[in-house]
Amino acid sequence: MQNTESFLEEDQTLDPQDWNTMRQMGHQMVDDMMDYMQHIREQPVWRKFPDVSKQFLQQDVPHGPQNINSIYAEFKEHILPYTKGNIHPRFWAWVQGTGTPLGVMADMLASAMNPNVTLGEHAPMYVDKQVVEWCKQIMHYPATASGILVSGASMANTTALVVARNYQAADARKKGLASVPGKMAMYCSAETHSCVIKAAEVIGIGTEGVRKIAVTDKYEVDINLLKDAIEKDMAEGYIPFCVVGNAGTVNTGAIDDISALRKICDQYNLWLHIDGAFGAFAKFVPAYAERLKAIEEADSIAIDLHKWMYMPYEVGCTLVKNAEAHRNAFYSAPNYLLNHERGLAAGLDSIQNYGIELSRGFKALKVWMSIKEHGLEKYRALIQQNIAQAFYTGELVNQHAELELLCPVSMNIVCYRFVASSLPTEKLNELNKEIVMRLQEEGIASPSSTVLNGRYAIRVAIVNHRSRMEDFEVLIRETIRIGNTLLTNP
Ligand SMILES: *Cc1c(COP(=O)(O)O)cnc(C)c1O
Repeated sequence: MQNTESFLEEDQTLDPQDWNTMRQMGHQMVDDMMDYMQHIREQPVWRKFPDVSKQFLQQDVPHGPQNINSIYAEFKEHILPYTKGNIHPRFWAWVQGTGTPLGVMADMLASAMNPNVTLGEHAPMYVDKQVVEWCKQIMHYPATASGILVSGASMANTTALVVARNYQAADARKKGLASVPGKMAMYCSAETHSCVIKAAEVIGIGTEGVRKIAVTDKYEVDINLLKDAIEKDMAEGYIPFCVVGNAGTVNTGAIDDISALRKICDQYNLWLHIDGAFGAFAKFVPAYAERLKAIEEADSIAIDLHKWMYMPYEVGCTLVKNAEAHRNAFYSAPNYLLNHERGLAAGLDSIQNYGIELSRGFKALKVWMSIKEHGLEKYRALIQQNIAQAFYTGELVNQHAELELLCPVSMNIVCYRFVASSLPTEKLNELNKEIVMRLQEEGIASPSSTVLNGRYAIRVAIVNHRSRMEDFEVLIRETIRIGNTLLTNP
């Protein structure tokens, strides 16, 4: 044999030489993380990330090995304490989920199995399919609809809009948008999430092809303006293809009049897609079920399970009513991905026929386990609780002369600010921004912010199963304290 010198003496692997040490480390990590989650309330919501730790994370790539105990010690020193904080009971920034202990464990099991859940005859494919079926049932979508689990609502919206575009532009996969005899246009309210606009860019519609329709004083799309825009475009030779409705806008939680959108889409033969990232789950709650029932009539829906279903990141879902249109948009069968009648390559339709990604993790497991652990009724109660907390916070704001609501509470989002009659808008904007930064820096609470009609708003978005009513009293009390402090010592 030639060249044997170039082979290594022993077989190499990434598995531990000493499984016992790894096992002990694993037990330690599980114990530490259970303690961490159990006692998260006693921690500050956020800590400033120190310069030493930032420097620590600017090292050159290591060429040699390091002991796992010391790696774990570094994690505990430089990473764990300086996390974003969204598992904390007083975190209400952006729209961020909180996760659960069993969800953590499920992710560990999924990582240990490490299946690539894209094709083949194996259980994870069926768990994935089961979870998609559950999403359909949760949204009261027909059994004939199709769906795919994706990373989050950005990907879920993009996936749906590819289907919508190709449904209207049947040759788009082959010939691109050059096959369309005119410029395509889509419609959504001015309050629509930026990821929908990005999706329009990605699918070749371009930002100029997106008509951002003005909203009413309730931040819902203005139906008359929408109709006018569609008719104007048709008269000018554009090709309208899709309306994106909101079931819970990111700024204020507004729900568009989805029944009215359905009628318009029927009238002009347009695809109706709903961005229901978090708001679609308010369907569980009787007070919202009626308003959100029309989601069932949409051609596609994007939802996020890592928001109001409290799953660990990342998991979202696209549902499409016309399964054939969905498959037509993504189907591909290269030689290396063929289905067989038997063996490992048999089984369910390949998931890559329903989306952009090929390799996919086993994110379905945490969803499957969590929904079984709690049952849907528990989620209903929690969503209801979060909505009640938002209305309570709105009442607290109204009870204090120093505070002002900047839009009516309609679901789980509260936008308010500290006010002082002597100050002009610009100064109030600065003051409220300072309040938000201090609330975070002092580790009290993490709201985020938005701007509504030129006014800076402290924005509280509640998709947190750990928050209690008293946490919102703390937020309001501390907002007023910091506001008054800033007024006296600017
Ligand atoms: C969060 C959100 C998105 C984006 O979802 P990701 O999971 O962050 O990709 C889209 N639309 C709305 C209404 C959202 O709240």
